[in-house]
Parts: sequence; C-alpha cells; structure tokens
Amino acid sequence: MKHTSLLVFLGIMLAAGVARGQQQDFSKVTIKTTKLTDSIYMLEGSGGNIGVSIGEDGVILIDDQFAPLTGKIQEAVAKLTPKPIKFVINTHWHVDHVGGNENLGPAGAVIVAHDNVRKRMSTEGFIEKFKLKVPASPPKALPIVTFTTDITLHFNGEDIHVIHVDPAHTDGDAIIVFPKAKVVHMGDCYVSLSYPFVDLGSGGSFDGFIAASNKVVGMTDESFKVIPGHGPLSTRAELKSWHDMLVEISALVKKQVDAKKSLEDIQKANLTAKWDEKWGQKSIKPNEVVEYAFKAIKGTH
Ligand SMILES: [Zn+2]
Repeated sequence: MKHTSLLVFLGIMLAAGVARGQQQDFSKVTIKTTKLTDSIYMLEGSGGNIGVSIGEDGVILIDDQFAPLTGKIQEAVAKLTPKPIKFVINTHWHVDHVGGNENLGPAGAVIVAHDNVRKRMSTEGFIEKFKLKVPASPPKALPIVTFTTDITLHFNGEDIHVIHVDPAHTDGDAIIVFPKAKVVHMGDCYVSLSYPFVDLGSGGSFDGFIAASNKVVGMTDESFKVIPGHGPLSTRAELKSWHDMLVEISALVKKQVDAKKSLEDIQKANLTAKWDEKWGQKSIKPNEVVEYAFKAIKGTH
C-alpha cells in the first residue's frame, strides 16, 4: 500500500468510527447480502451500507465502501446477476462510501454524485472531528456525472430519484428513492444506531438531518424499507422516531440557549439522557450531538 493510500485508509477508518484502536484487515471482511425486494439488495461489509438495483438494464450500486473491498463487492453482485455494474451513485464524499470508485469507474461504471462530492474529492479534505487530512482522490475515482439539486435514472423499470438535501452530514448529501420498489437509501443522513455525525468541516448542519429525515418520511409510506448509511436496515417508523429524537433535542437545547446558557452548561444538563443508551454509544457522544444542535441554533454550523 502506498504511503498516501495508507494515510487515507487509516484516516477513514477513524472517520467511519470503525477503528477501535486497531487497524482493520480488509481480508477478514465478508460481504453480507440482504434481499429487500426482487430488484433491490443491501450489502454490508465495512464502511457505508451499499444499495444494489438489479434488473434488465444491469446493476446500479449506491456507494462502494473501501477500495480494497471492490473484488468482494463484485463477487457478491455476481451472485445476484451476471449483468455489469453500469452506475455507481455516491451519497457523499467520505471514503468509506466512495473508496471503490477508483476501481469501479475504470471497470466501466458511470459514477454519479452531487457537485460538491466531486469538488471535495478533487482536493485534499479535512475531517474536523478526527483532525484528519484526506488526500485528493485520483481522477479515475471522481464522479463524472454531477448534479445540483437532483437527477433521475430511468433504469431497471424504475424512476430512481437521486435528491440532494440541504446540508446535513456534508454539503453534498444525496438520498436515493426507488418509488416502485419502495426503498430509500439515506446515506449518512440517517444512521440507525447512532446520533448523527455532522461533518462541520464539510459544510454539514444538524438542522439538515431534521429536514432530510422529515422529507423522506413525508415522501414515503410505512411499507418503505430504509437503508441507513450505517447500521441495520430500518423501517420508516424507525426513521421517524430518529427524526423525532432530533427535533426534541433541538427544542431542548433551544430552550437553554434562550435562557442564555453556555454550551458547557447545556452539555452538563444531560438533556439527551433518555436516548443515550440507544443512540449515544457509538462515536458520536451525547456532548457532541448537543454541540451540533447548539451550533445550528446559533447559526455557527
Ligand atoms: Zn460519511
């Protein structure tokens, strides 16, 4: 592994919250395939959850985890269909979601993402939470089709909507909706087992998570399956309760801000206690979610 890619690798393992004091050995990762509908699957390995659309026209992948896993991901897809991977849609620029681009692009997939994904991948990035520099991606890994607000792929009998949402996890987030199959992939705008990670250095905002989850709840019915960026497959009801938690936290923090409390005082008030067991055990701690909400209220996010 070259020095730069090693740095990227280490950096992103931390950013993904998967480095628990040791480096990850990708040779140990297995890809788990879950069938959601006749045409949509979810793949879990290491990094962001992958959505797969298969059918007449070929394969679309939503996100592609880390570059060293591409072979395993291709094998998992080959077990579902002999058709080629024609498109990769990136939900945002973090390397635990776009790492496989550098292999899948040259292998023939058209990579699609929001304008800011290409922009951020094109230059050295910085993930503030982990104080980590992320080198620019090689040109072959960059999305070649980018969009500003949304784009629709007419593929496998679906009108697949790729929708940019207001900055939430980053300023280049997209959610992907399969209206016919009744599946939505939320990228890291929804993580089923954690408080949200607002990547402030990438233009994220706590309020964007509220807006994005609200939007998806509003455009789906209870039969939709929800693929989170990380964590197990969810129902719309689970997404709704996560959204409601964010709204409540925002309101609780706002009350304190209105009472002229400092961030430090608010963080000591244990406002998130009733959710901490469920959502506060991963890399985003209660203090951080309070800080995100505080910054959004203050307009300093
Ligand atoms: Zn991310």
